[in-house]
Order: sequence, then structure tokens, then C-alpha cells
Amino acid sequence: MKPVRQVVIAGAGVTGLLTAVECALAGHRVTVLDRGAIPNPASSSFDHHRAIRAFAWGDPATTRRKVAARRRWLELETTLGARFYRRVGIVSAWPCAEADAVLAEAAAAGLPVSAVEPEKLPHLGFPADSVGVLEADAGVLLAERVLSAAVKWLSAHPAVTLRPWSKVDSVHSGRIELDGGESLGADHVLIAAGPWTPDLADLPAVLHRQTMVYLRPPDDLVRWWENAPGGGRLGADGRAWLLPPGDGTLLKISSDAVCREVESTDSAEESQDPWLEKLLGASIVSDVDRYTVVATKSCHYLSDPDAGDALLTRVGPAVWSRSACGGTGFTTAPLAARQFAETLTEEIA
Ligand SMILES: Cc1cc2nc3c(=O)[nH]c(=O)nc-3n(C[C@H](O)[C@H](O)[C@H](O)COP(=O)(O)OP(=O)(O)OC[C@H]3O[C@@H](n4cnc5c(N)ncnc54)[C@H](O)[C@@H]3O)c2cc1C
Repeated sequence: MKPVRQVVIAGAGVTGLLTAVECALAGHRVTVLDRGAIPNPASSSFDHHRAIRAFAWGDPATTRRKVAARRRWLELETTLGARFYRRVGIVSAWPCAEADAVLAEAAAAGLPVSAVEPEKLPHLGFPADSVGVLEADAGVLLAERVLSAAVKWLSAHPAVTLRPWSKVDSVHSGRIELDGGESLGADHVLIAAGPWTPDLADLPAVLHRQTMVYLRPPDDLVRWWENAPGGGRLGADGRAWLLPPGDGTLLKISSDAVCREVESTDSAEESQDPWLEKLLGASIVSDVDRYTVVATKSCHYLSDPDAGDALLTRVGPAVWSRSACGGTGFTTAPLAARQFAETLTEEIA
């Protein structure tokens, strides 16, 4: 009989939930704690959509890793019994002088890519003198649907306990203290608290806040947008991105130009209006005045100079953490989940 471990996971965003799935599949007992509801609308994973693309220019190792992540996402659709991947493609704008080299590198990595003239996508705002490189297998994960599917699967699993409204106060090897005084024993702990991870683990993390704007297209463009790809490196400065509407989601725009370092995740006092104006003025979407602004939201992520793009960091003898990372944290969550489950297997052996 395989040895069974008691795993406790602090945080029920995409990292915590997918790690719970992997650990349960490997035969372990799992408890997932979140300080809010599960899924938690206040988590950074809870959103209409997240982009998933494989190509990383000049970085074949990252490209390979993201190809593996996408494969795992497709398997997860089967495991969790839900459809949440929209393979709409993602087009990135590249200076005309660089596009051939980009296409060649992506093709060498085995990715189906093609050049697209900006005129073919007239509602996306390309920088001057650029051309689109379309990664056909890339697309959009319907993030809220992912979280709901994982929660449904975990709720039905006999070895899994989901505990909403359970705030973790501190984490020690073999033990987790909850707000209110309860103590839980654990063979292995994963801190998956996203941008709140520094509350529970001492990491040299830098906190970032980014504003996103949700738009409803005008009636005459609804059909066009339903078949549109996502876009990257867009806008007049080539720093913006958009995720297309479809399957009940809105069009979402944002830009690296509205990403800022902050001290705290509390954004209640910050007006989003200046960031909204900046995004609407960034030429990400053509004729943006014809679109209805439905919502503006800010979201946080951490960067960790020590961990870099590592999927997991060991912070104690049986304690691991995953700091949420910006552009690829959702994409690579299945890889972090699998790595954690494999670590248990190795340690048992
Ligand atoms: C603007 C923006 C755009 C992004 N776009 C993309 C994208 O297109 N593609 C992509 O791959 N990635 C993207 N990301 C990154 C991705 O969204 C995150 O990396 C990912 O969602 C993080 O998931 P997580 O589960 O690690 O953290 P979270 O989803 O934040 O979950 C953490 C959970 O921990 C809980 N928690 C916190 N503290 C405690 C505590 N003390 N006790 C108990 N529970 C606690 C919280 O309530 C929360 O539910 C983006 C990020 C941002 C900010």
C-alpha cells in the first residue's frame, strides 16, 4: 500500500486548488484553507479570463515549460469534467524588422505560428511599423470556471477537506496555526496565499498592482470579437495586452504601463480613474470611445528576486511556498501543483 501523507494548503486560488487535485490523485489526504469563501472572489485567480501562451522569445526552456503547462491544462479539462480553455490564439505585435526571426524561433520550437498584417485585425491597436505573430494554440482560460470545476471535483473527493473562512495565522514545520487558536497537524504544507504570501513566509518579495478595464463592444462588433484572438505587445507603446470577450466574458485591456510597485494589497483608498484614463488613451482598441466601460479592477502579484521564475520555494523542512507571479502564474499553476505532489512522492521514497 502507498504511504499516505496529510497535506495542508493555505490558500484556495488556482495554485492551492490544483495542488489539492494533484495530491488527491496521488492518494494523499488534503485540507485546503482559505480566509474567505472557496473559491474566493478576492483571490487574484478569480477573474473572467487569463491568457495562456507558450512562446517566450529567446528563452526556449520557458517555451518548453509553457507547452507542457498547456498540455496539462487540456488534461485537466478531462479530469475535472469541464470545458474552460478557449483556443482562440494570441497575436503579439513585433517590429517588422524582427518578425521573421520571431517566426523562425517559434516554428523551431514546434509552435504553429503565422504572420498577420494589422489590417486583418482592425479593432486591435498595433504599434507603428509592427506586424502580428499569431500563436494558434494559445488562448484564454476561463478562470472562474476553472476554480468552480476544481472546487466541485474536490468537494466530491473523500480524501479532501475544503475549509473556507479559515485564516492561517502562522505556518511551522508540521503545524499550522489558525486565526482563533486552532492548530492543525500536517506532514507537508504549501503556502499558496498569492500576493499575501509574505504574511506567512519570510521572502524578499516585491508587490505589484495592475489595473484592468472590462469593456463591452458596440453591438455591431459583438460577432467580430467572438472570433478574435487575444493580443499582446499592443497599443502605441507596445506594452499593452487584451483578452477577447466570449463565453460570457467581457473584453479586458491592461498594460505594463499601469503596473506599479506598492506596499500593501489594500487598494480601497486608491482611485482607479487615472489608470482607467491611461488605459483608454493607450490605443489598445481602435475607436475605444464606442465601447462601454463595465468595470475597472486592480489585481496584485509578487515578484521574488531570489526565487525568479521557480515554480516552488522551500521555506522550511516540510513547508513550500508559491509566490504568485505576474504574467504566467495561472498558466504554470498545474506545473507547480505537479511538482509539489512529486516532491511528496520523492520524500516518501
Ligand atoms: C493584472 C494581472 C493579470 C494577470 N494575467 C495573467 C495571465 O494572463 N496569465 C497567467 O498565466 N497569469 C496571469 N496573472 C497571474 C495569475 O493571475 C496569478 O499568478 C495567479 O492567479 C495566482 O494564483 P494563486 O493561487 O497563487 O494566488 P491567489 O489566486 O491570489 O490565491 C491566494 C488565496 O490565498 C488566500 N489567503 C491569503 N492569505 C491567507 C491566509 N492567511 N489564510 C488563508 N488563506 C489565505 C486568499 O484568500 C486567496 O484565495 C495575472 C496577474 C495579474 C495581477
